[in-house]
Amino acid sequence: MNKGKIIILSAPSGTGKSTIISRLMDNTDLRLGFSVSATSRAPRGAEVHGREYYFLSPEEFRTKVNNDEFVEWEEVYAGTCYGTLVSEVERVIDSGRNLIMDIDVKGALNVKKRYGGQALSIFILPPSVEELERRLRSRSTDTEESIRKRLDKAELEMSFAPQFDVRIVNDDLDRASKEVEDTIKSVIE
Ligand code: 5GP
Repeated sequence: MNKGKIIILSAPSGTGKSTIISRLMDNTDLRLGFSVSATSRAPRGAEVHGREYYFLSPEEFRTKVNNDEFVEWEEVYAGTCYGTLVSEVERVIDSGRNLIMDIDVKGALNVKKRYGGQALSIFILPPSVEELERRLRSRSTDTEESIRKRLDKAELEMSFAPQFDVRIVNDDLDRASKEVEDTIKSVIE
Protein backbone atom coordinates (compact mmCIF):
# COMPACT_ATOMS: atom_id res chain seq x y z
CA MET A 1 0.00 0.00 0.00
CA ASN A 2 1.26 3.49 -0.87
CA LYS A 3 2.04 5.60 2.13
CA GLY A 4 0.29 8.96 2.29
CA LYS A 5 1.92 12.34 1.94
CA ILE A 6 2.58 14.69 4.83
CA ILE A 7 1.16 18.18 4.33
CA ILE A 8 2.61 20.65 6.82
CA LEU A 9 0.79 23.94 7.28
CA SER A 10 2.30 26.78 9.25
CA ALA A 11 1.07 30.32 9.73
CA PRO A 12 1.06 33.02 12.35
CA SER A 13 -1.91 32.72 14.72
CA GLY A 14 -4.94 34.58 13.26
CA THR A 15 -4.02 34.01 9.62
CA GLY A 16 -7.09 31.90 8.89
CA LYS A 17 -5.16 28.64 8.91
CA SER A 18 -7.72 26.72 11.00
CA THR A 19 -10.55 27.74 8.65
CA ILE A 20 -8.50 26.71 5.62
CA ILE A 21 -7.74 23.37 7.26
CA SER A 22 -11.37 22.65 8.11
CA ARG A 23 -12.35 23.38 4.48
CA LEU A 24 -9.61 21.01 3.28
CA MET A 25 -10.83 18.30 5.67
CA ASP A 26 -14.33 18.59 4.14
CA ASN A 27 -12.91 17.76 0.70
CA THR A 28 -12.97 13.94 0.63
CA ASP A 29 -10.97 13.81 -2.67
CA LEU A 30 -7.88 14.89 -0.72
CA ARG A 31 -8.15 11.88 1.68
CA LEU A 32 -6.76 13.92 4.56
CA GLY A 33 -6.34 12.86 8.15
CA PHE A 34 -5.61 15.59 10.70
CA SER A 35 -2.67 15.12 13.03
CA VAL A 36 -4.04 15.98 16.47
CA SER A 37 -1.13 17.48 18.41
CA ALA A 38 -0.51 17.28 22.12
CA THR A 39 -0.22 20.52 24.07
CA SER A 40 0.42 21.54 27.66
CA ARG A 41 -1.95 24.53 27.41
CA ALA A 42 -5.55 24.52 28.65
CA PRO A 43 -8.48 24.24 26.19
CA ARG A 44 -9.74 27.54 24.70
CA GLY A 45 -13.40 28.25 23.86
CA ALA A 46 -15.15 25.17 22.49
CA GLU A 47 -11.99 23.08 22.00
CA VAL A 48 -12.39 19.38 22.75
CA HIS A 49 -9.74 16.92 24.00
CA GLY A 50 -8.79 14.58 21.14
CA ARG A 51 -10.28 16.84 18.45
CA GLU A 52 -8.24 20.10 18.36
CA TYR A 53 -5.53 18.81 20.71
CA TYR A 54 -4.71 16.21 23.31
CA PHE A 55 -4.61 18.51 26.33
CA LEU A 56 -1.93 17.23 28.70
CA SER A 57 -0.58 18.52 31.99
CA PRO A 58 3.04 19.76 31.82
CA GLU A 59 4.04 16.56 33.69
CA GLU A 60 2.21 14.28 31.25
CA PHE A 61 3.81 16.16 28.33
CA ARG A 62 7.28 15.78 29.87
CA THR A 63 6.75 12.04 30.37
CA LYS A 64 5.91 11.59 26.67
CA VAL A 65 9.04 13.58 25.71
CA ASN A 66 11.15 11.30 27.92
CA ASN A 67 9.49 8.20 26.43
CA ASP A 68 10.34 9.39 22.88
CA GLU A 69 6.67 9.52 21.90
CA PHE A 70 7.05 12.69 19.78
CA VAL A 71 8.16 13.09 16.14
CA GLU A 72 8.89 16.70 17.12
CA TRP A 73 7.93 19.04 19.91
CA GLU A 74 8.55 22.73 20.61
CA GLU A 75 8.03 25.21 23.43
CA VAL A 76 6.04 27.42 21.04
CA TYR A 77 5.20 30.00 23.73
CA ALA A 78 7.17 30.41 26.97
CA GLY A 79 6.06 27.60 29.26
CA THR A 80 3.67 26.07 26.68
CA CYS A 81 4.70 23.05 24.65
CA TYR A 82 3.15 21.51 21.54
CA GLY A 83 4.17 18.29 19.85
CA THR A 84 3.33 15.79 17.10
CA LEU A 85 2.90 12.26 18.42
CA VAL A 86 4.53 9.36 16.55
CA SER A 87 1.24 7.45 17.03
CA GLU A 88 -0.72 10.17 15.17
CA VAL A 89 1.61 10.16 12.15
CA GLU A 90 1.57 6.35 11.90
CA ARG A 91 -2.21 6.11 12.35
CA VAL A 92 -2.88 8.32 9.31
CA ILE A 93 0.04 7.56 7.00
CA ASP A 94 -0.18 3.77 7.36
CA SER A 95 -3.87 3.89 6.40
CA GLY A 96 -2.86 5.44 3.04
CA ARG A 97 -4.43 8.81 3.85
CA ASN A 98 -2.50 12.05 3.60
CA LEU A 99 -1.60 13.60 6.92
CA ILE A 100 -2.23 17.28 7.47
CA MET A 101 -0.34 19.00 10.28
CA ASP A 102 -0.86 22.44 11.76
CA ILE A 103 2.44 23.12 13.52
CA ASP A 104 4.79 26.01 14.27
CA VAL A 105 7.62 27.02 11.91
CA LYS A 106 10.44 25.22 13.70
CA GLY A 107 8.43 22.01 14.00
CA ALA A 108 7.43 22.33 10.34
CA LEU A 109 11.02 22.66 9.13
CA ASN A 110 12.08 19.70 11.33
CA VAL A 111 9.32 17.48 9.93
CA LYS A 112 10.23 18.53 6.37
CA LYS A 113 13.88 17.64 7.03
CA ARG A 114 12.90 14.26 8.48
CA TYR A 115 10.41 13.22 5.76
CA GLY A 116 11.91 15.05 2.71
CA GLY A 117 10.01 14.43 -0.53
CA GLN A 118 7.17 12.68 1.30
CA ALA A 119 6.35 16.04 2.92
CA LEU A 120 5.12 19.34 1.50
CA SER A 121 5.53 22.45 3.65
CA ILE A 122 3.11 25.35 3.09
CA PHE A 123 3.32 28.74 4.83
CA ILE A 124 0.20 30.90 4.97
CA LEU A 125 0.91 34.62 5.19
CA PRO A 126 -1.46 37.37 6.37
CA PRO A 127 -1.89 40.30 3.91
CA SER A 128 0.01 42.49 6.44
CA VAL A 129 0.97 42.63 10.13
CA GLU A 130 -1.69 45.38 10.67
CA GLU A 131 -4.42 43.15 9.25
CA LEU A 132 -3.22 40.28 11.43
CA GLU A 133 -3.52 42.48 14.55
CA ARG A 134 -7.07 43.45 13.56
CA ARG A 135 -8.02 39.78 13.09
CA LEU A 136 -6.52 38.71 16.42
CA ARG A 137 -8.41 41.45 18.27
CA SER A 138 -11.72 40.57 16.63
CA ARG A 139 -11.32 36.95 17.78
CA SER A 140 -11.48 38.26 21.38
CA THR A 141 -10.80 34.91 23.06
CA ASP A 142 -7.29 36.09 24.02
CA THR A 143 -6.05 38.55 26.62
CA GLU A 144 -4.10 41.69 25.62
CA GLU A 145 -0.88 40.04 26.80
CA SER A 146 -1.56 36.97 24.72
CA ILE A 147 -2.36 39.10 21.62
CA ARG A 148 0.97 40.97 22.01
CA LYS A 149 2.83 37.67 22.40
CA ARG A 150 1.16 36.30 19.27
CA LEU A 151 2.02 39.43 17.24
CA ASP A 152 5.68 39.36 18.28
CA LYS A 153 5.76 35.69 17.46
CA ALA A 154 4.08 36.32 14.07
CA GLU A 155 6.84 38.66 12.93
CA LEU A 156 9.48 36.12 13.88
CA GLU A 157 7.57 33.29 12.18
CA MET A 158 7.16 35.27 8.96
CA SER A 159 10.94 35.51 8.70
CA PHE A 160 10.98 31.69 8.21
CA ALA A 161 8.54 31.80 5.25
CA PRO A 162 11.29 31.62 2.56
CA GLN A 163 12.36 28.19 3.89
CA PHE A 164 8.96 26.58 3.08
CA ASP A 165 8.20 24.75 -0.19
CA VAL A 166 5.21 27.03 -0.91
CA ARG A 167 3.96 30.41 0.41
CA ILE A 168 0.31 31.47 0.07
CA VAL A 169 -1.11 34.88 1.10
CA ASN A 170 -4.55 34.77 2.72
CA ASP A 171 -5.98 38.06 1.45
CA ASP A 172 -9.22 36.34 0.46
CA LEU A 173 -10.27 33.16 2.22
CA ASP A 174 -11.93 31.49 -0.80
CA ARG A 175 -9.01 32.22 -3.09
CA ALA A 176 -6.36 31.18 -0.55
CA SER A 177 -8.23 27.95 0.33
CA LYS A 178 -8.44 27.06 -3.37
CA GLU A 179 -4.72 27.75 -3.83
CA VAL A 180 -3.83 25.50 -0.88
CA GLU A 181 -6.16 22.80 -2.22
CA ASP A 182 -4.64 22.96 -5.73
CA THR A 183 -1.13 22.81 -4.28
CA ILE A 184 -2.00 19.68 -2.26
CA LYS A 185 -3.68 18.07 -5.30
CA SER A 186 -0.48 18.58 -7.29
CA VAL A 187 1.55 16.37 -4.89
CA ILE A 188 -0.88 13.60 -3.90
CA GLU A 189 -1.39 10.52 -6.09
P1 5GP B 1 -2.72 27.66 19.42
O1 5GP B 1 -2.38 27.75 20.87
O2 5GP B 1 -3.12 28.97 18.83
O3 5GP B 1 -3.70 26.55 19.13
O4 5GP B 1 -1.40 27.18 18.63
C1 5GP B 1 -0.22 27.86 18.80
C2 5GP B 1 0.84 27.37 17.85
O5 5GP B 1 1.25 26.04 18.14
C3 5GP B 1 0.44 27.38 16.37
O6 5GP B 1 1.42 28.11 15.66
C4 5GP B 1 0.47 25.94 16.00
O7 5GP B 1 0.83 25.78 14.64
C5 5GP B 1 1.53 25.38 16.95
N1 5GP B 1 1.42 23.95 17.11
C6 5GP B 1 0.30 23.21 17.27
N2 5GP B 1 0.58 21.92 17.35
C7 5GP B 1 1.92 21.80 17.23
C8 5GP B 1 2.83 20.68 17.21
O8 5GP B 1 2.45 19.53 17.31
N3 5GP B 1 4.14 20.97 17.08
C9 5GP B 1 4.62 22.22 16.94
N4 5GP B 1 5.92 22.39 16.79
N5 5GP B 1 3.80 23.29 16.94
C10 5GP B 1 2.47 23.08 17.08
